Amino acid sequence: MTLGVDQKNPDWRDYAICAQTDPEIFFPEKGGSTREAKKVCNSCDVREACLDYALEHDEKFGIWGGLSERERRKLKKPKKRKNTTVKNPEVEVGDQPKQEDGDDSDRENVA
Ligand code: SF4
Repeated sequence: MTLGVDQKNPDWRDYAICAQTDPEIFFPEKGGSTREAKKVCNSCDVREACLDYALEHDEKFGIWGGLSERERRKLKKPKKRKNTTVKNPEVEVGDQPKQEDGDDSDRENVA
């Protein structure tokens, strides 16, 4: 049994183990270590819900779901698409269509 949980309307936050730890470790100074917070998150049962919440609400600061702000940004960033253009090896831009019979006599008459 978890204390403080509304049994009729439970919320993932009710099971957040960070609520029982030092909140400072989840908001380290710039360049500070995130190791302690991530260690706590790794043993948290609601990690996925927490991360989803942070991504949906665009949380800018702190460790959420075991990820730092930068790591969450990377997750949200659309992956660069590789060039999927399929080139037709028969036709290059500016090329004339190939003639089946090889007769190009009509081109010679064009001035
Ligand atoms: S995943 Fe981490 S930040 Fe999220 S609720 Fe759990 S302990 Fe707190």
